Amino acid sequence: MIPLWLWAGCVFVLGSCIGSFLNVVIWRLPRNQSLSSPARSYCPRCQKQIAWHDNIPILAWLFLGGKCRKCGQPISIRYPLVELATGLLFLGLLLVLRGKILPLVLPVIFTAYLLYGFIRPRLPRRVRDEIESEPDNTSAEEHAEP
Ligand SMILES: [Zn+2]
Repeated sequence: MIPLWLWAGCVFVLGSCIGSFLNVVIWRLPRNQSLSSPARSYCPRCQKQIAWHDNIPILAWLFLGGKCRKCGQPISIRYPLVELATGLLFLGLLLVLRGKILPLVLPVIFTAYLLYGFIRPRLPRRVRDEIESEPDNTSAEEHAEP
């Protein structure tokens, strides 16, 4: 049987990796950039690619002192905080709700809210209004029989 501490470590790492991906989405989506290209993360200031070892969730930010290795410019603390929050949420759910499948829906909802919370202020007003408006029936009317 796998010891709980090992499960906890794996779940925390998984959560922080998902948080790392959320950071990519938080940065790129409002700027209309592809999530898949470039595949590797890059420094938003000097645009240089970030090496895999400088991209390890939470730890890389700490080891680099919150600065880009290539240009020395500061990297927002938002990056490790999102990774830490997501890792802790996944860990907390494992410890509190162990053995149940349904609560796994909660981290998905949390990450979606976290993501939207960061992206919302950067979205153009038109897109925000579209997302948050009530669904209308125009498409149903378009297809209605005369
Ligand atoms: Zn840089």
